[in-house]
Order: sequence, then structure tokens, then C-alpha cells
Amino acid sequence: MKILLAASEVVPFAKTGGLADVAGALPLALEKLGQEIIIAIPRYKAVSASRFKMKRLSGDISYSTLGEDIKVYFIENNKYFNRDGLYGDKAGDYKDNLDRFSYYCKRTLGLLKEIKFQPDIIHCHDWQSALIPVYLKKLYAEDSFFKNTKTMLTIHNIGYQGLFPKEEFAKLGLDWSLFDMEMLEFYGKVNILKGGIVFSDLITTVSHTYSKEIQTKQFGFGMEGILNRRQNSVFGILNGLDYSIWNPETDKFIAKNYSLENLQDKCQNKDDLQKICRLPAKEDVPLFGIVSRLAEQKGFDILAEAIESIMKMNLQLIILGTGDQKYHLLLEDIAKKYPKVLSLYLKFDDPLAHKIYAGSDIFLMPSKYEPCGLGQMISLRYATVPLVFKTGGLADTVNSDNGFVFDSYKKEDLIKTIKQTIEVFKNKKKWNMLLKRAMQCNFSWEESAKKYIQLYEKSKA
Ligand code: ADP
Repeated sequence: MKILLAASEVVPFAKTGGLADVAGALPLALEKLGQEIIIAIPRYKAVSASRFKMKRLSGDISYSTLGEDIKVYFIENNKYFNRDGLYGDKAGDYKDNLDRFSYYCKRTLGLLKEIKFQPDIIHCHDWQSALIPVYLKKLYAEDSFFKNTKTMLTIHNIGYQGLFPKEEFAKLGLDWSLFDMEMLEFYGKVNILKGGIVFSDLITTVSHTYSKEIQTKQFGFGMEGILNRRQNSVFGILNGLDYSIWNPETDKFIAKNYSLENLQDKCQNKDDLQKICRLPAKEDVPLFGIVSRLAEQKGFDILAEAIESIMKMNLQLIILGTGDQKYHLLLEDIAKKYPKVLSLYLKFDDPLAHKIYAGSDIFLMPSKYEPCGLGQMISLRYATVPLVFKTGGLADTVNSDNGFVFDSYKKEDLIKTIKQTIEVFKNKKKWNMLLKRAMQCNFSWEESAKKYIQLYEKSKA
């Protein structure tokens, strides 16, 4: 099948979040499964011509390659993309984001004609590429070049929709009749993601549970109605994990490599981590780890309420993360008060993250909502038992066989589940069985890519 993947960020070229990981890893898996795939992305200032062996196709298009032979086309535009940030700077989102990403979408469709690449499917990601299905259905409806082209929109986090003032609608080059609450209008504003939801042939999200949750008022951020109407076209496919990076057998950042066969070596990583984090070197005290954005979405509201009680339990906790200032301040106070229990790192630190995944006994991830989540999948591979709230991708990957789950989003339930975990930790036989089951979980990109191919085929049927 011929596929175009359209995303505003793709690893290794540009990244601000999980979307880039997916957009970089999925094409590699699709290529291995024999699909013909190309990628189109804006050319931001930071994309280095020499590092990526960039070649020139035309005045405003350059390209590089990924995997064996995946062409990655860069849409250039000095005015729009030659900036340090992808979507904004310290002052907030760029004011011309609608201009920038509508341009990217239009130019991408024009490019396909120039390179004579007729996709069976255009796979768009998040609001930045969500205008492609709209343009295809409205501006190219009569164009025979695209007559067999279908579209899929993957929503990575429905909290981000691309909302703009009504006055900007005219810049999209679409008929005003589309500024309608059944299409691109949302409470008087332009909502780009909504346009993508309405006009894509298929819609996916990054876990099965999240695909159901976003159809409810609680999780839908206002999109539940429109998604409900399209429920037969909404699917969830779990993201994969890159096991070439996240593998305790080969991980270069951790003190001692280990696998299912020599799981006892994991304890050397705990020892190492306790030393680094200046926590008492105690093997029999359960060590909890958190690697996360410090945000309400990640469960820090109930964690903040519960933290004093947690500090009084027989455990140790390491937190690595950055985010909301209020959580920085609160956790700094707690770390000062309980230096033998809490070790706090308010920074982004990839090597330390690897050490925490390997050295902790339990990975704490009580997210309020979680489209997919990587932390729990990584920790499972490192035989670090996840403790999660039952939502989104967490509900789809963690259960009582491989971890601990609480299903009522309250500090009391979080505290209760931590206590249960500590009890199970004392039972070495039970705990070891849990570790083994955790480590055997497999969330590979190959499986996810196969599911995407099935859906691509479904869109053609
Ligand atoms: P998000 O919603 O932030 O994308 P995910 O769980 O999907 O959450 O992915 C977060 C990724 O970022 C994980 O790989 C996690 O290890 C990493 N990460 C988050 N915060 C930090 C940090 N402070 N230092 C290092 N890695 C981090």
C-alpha cells in the first residue's frame, strides 16, 4: 500500500512530545512489513541539513531518508517555519499557527502531485495536519489524482485541538458554509481538529480505552458529540515501545544489565540508584519511582494531596520531572522535610530516567487521563511493577497480573493501593512472579503497525 504520513514532528528530525516518537517509529515498522511510505513535515530551523544529509528537490522542498528507503519531505517556508520553536516560544503559542499549519497541509497535498505519489492513505496526526482531510474532501473533490486516496486522523491527546478566533477562518481558503457547528465551528471559534474528525475516513487514538473515553463528556474536551456520531469509524491502537532503546539487557545507562534469565541482577541497579539519589541503601524497603511531567494530567493533584501520608509509609520515592511550578514548590518542601524518603530531581534527564526505570521496584503513574502512556510500558520491560489509575492506555496495559491498578480517582484510593503494593512486596515469592509476568509483556511496534495496516485496508473497502 502507498502511504503518506503527515505529522508536524517526527523523530529524529523534530520533537516536543510523544507524537514525534510515534511518527518516527510507525513508518519504520510499516516499511519492514513491506509498505511503501513517505513522510511530509515542516522544515523547522533546528533541522540540520548536514546531520540528515538533506538533498534538494525543488525551490521549497528538501528531503532526507529514514529507515531503509523512506523519503522524508520537508516543506520549507522562511516566514513560517524558520524559527526556534515548533509551535511557540516563551511568550506562548505563535500567533500565526493557523497560517503556518494550514500552509503545511495545502503544500503537502500539492507536493504529492509534483512527485506523482498517489497515496492509498494519508495518515494525519493531531490538529496540525488535520486540515489535510478537509482540503482533500473540499478543494480536491473533483481531482482524479486523489480519487483513490483515503484519510486517517490519529488523535494523540484530545486536549489540543487547534482553536483560533472566527476571524481567521477566511485564511483557510474554505467556504464559509464549513464554519458550522457540525464541521469546523466550536463555540464561535475555528476548531481545526474538529474539521479533521468530521472529514477523515477513519479516526484513531493511541489506545482502545482512550478511543472510548474521548466519546464521553468527562474526557472528550467538547469533541464527544461529534466523535459519537462517527463512532463506527473510531478505533484505538496502542503505541508500541522502541525496544532497541528500552531494553535492560543492553541499556548503556544502567549499572548492571539484566534479563528474565538473570533477574536477580536488577537489585544492583536499586543499590546504584539509592546511592545516586542519596537514599538509605535498604534492599527490603520498596523503592517507588516517578518519571513524568509534573502536571495534573499525570495525577499530581491527588499525589499532592496524598504526599504527606505517603511519606509516613515504609517506602522510598524518587521523582524525576518538570512541569507546573506549584508542584515544583510543593515537592521541594516535602523533599526537605523527608530527605530519607523522597529524592527529587526537577529536570529532564534521560540517563537518570533509565536508572529509575531499572532501579525502582515500583513505577508510580496515577495519571488522571492517559491517551497511551509510555512510562508504564517501559517500566514493565524493566520488571518495575507499575501502579496506575485505570484510564486510557494505562487500563489497556496494566492489570492485576502485571501491576497494581486503582479505579476511583481519589487520594484515598491511591494511598490504599500503595499500601497494598507494599504488602505484596514483602512476599518475595509472589513479588518475583509478578516481576516475571511484567517483564514478559510485549508492546512492539510490529503488532501496532499490523493493526494500522488492517485499518488502512478497511478504509479502502
Ligand atoms: P507524555 O504525556 O509526557 O508524552 P508518556 O508517558 O507518553 O507521557 O511519555 C513520557 C516520556 O518522557 C517517557 O519516555 C518518560 O520516560 C520521558 N520523560 C518524562 N519526563 C522526563 C524527565 N524529566 N526526564 C527524562 N525523561 C522524561
